[in-house]
Amino acid sequence: MDNILGGTEGFFSVGELSYIWERGLLERRLCGCGKPLPECEIWSDAVALSMGGVQPGTEIVRELVRIQRSNVRVRNTWRLLRHESHTLTPSLQSYVTSHGRLYQAIAQVTGAQVIVDSTKRPSDGALLRLMPQVTPYFVHLVRDPRAVAYSWRRRKAQLDRDRPAEMVAHGTVESTLNWTVWNLAAEAVDRRSGGRSILVRYEDFVSKPRATLARMLDLVEERRTLPFETERSAHLTPNHTVSGNPRRFSTGTVEVRADDEWLSNQRTRDRFMATILAAPLLRRYGYSLRPSSS
Ligand SMILES: [Zn+2]
Repeated sequence: MDNILGGTEGFFSVGELSYIWERGLLERRLCGCGKPLPECEIWSDAVALSMGGVQPGTEIVRELVRIQRSNVRVRNTWRLLRHESHTLTPSLQSYVTSHGRLYQAIAQVTGAQVIVDSTKRPSDGALLRLMPQVTPYFVHLVRDPRAVAYSWRRRKAQLDRDRPAEMVAHGTVESTLNWTVWNLAAEAVDRRSGGRSILVRYEDFVSKPRATLARMLDLVEERRTLPFETERSAHLTPNHTVSGNPRRFSTGTVEVRADDEWLSNQRTRDRFMATILAAPLLRRYGYSLRPSSS
């Protein structure tokens, strides 16, 4: 979604911006353009501009990572939403100031009107309203928790094939509880957004990608042409995304396809456990207790 939006005139996708300090500047992971992030011209210009014209020293970057790890966790979302600018602690104030200036610098360096940030943590979203440089709009993306649980279990199986079955069952419980907490935190951010938020279901995106992304253009009130070639395929150009899904390195014609392997391959007890744990939110997001491919 962010890569397609980022290929639209006036839009710039930054990927998961909250990882810029840790993964980008400290660990030198790759920008979407293929260069180590500190060597990408866009990012070295934007970061320097946001810091008053100089590249930040390692100590400054480490301090931002420390604040993020200790104060900007998902469980902090509700507390962060109660803050106003004058109630922030000095460390949170410096974190908010650094991010606000960085968004402004990205807009100046790229000329974009809309910055697409696919950072997932609602706690990061909770701080955007305290940045005077930013008018935040939120896309709350939700996916069927049974599919999410299957996806996590599959990933763990690949990483650690000799683990006992209990670890797998724990994966389903843990991922479904996380799904619930993250969605409740996202709803709390939505409620404080002044109506500038929409709920988007993964399943609706993969069935109607073009129409779903058009809703996002409506949200930010931009009349632009999305880079779709057909209803389901878009033309992606090279980007400058920080972190995120490995697909961000895909360019050219890319087709959006549903990943519904979980419907036929999920174990009965995992499906049952995820359904029970997520039941309070399933109906709210329009998911049935008995999922089917239809
Ligand atoms: Zn780059």
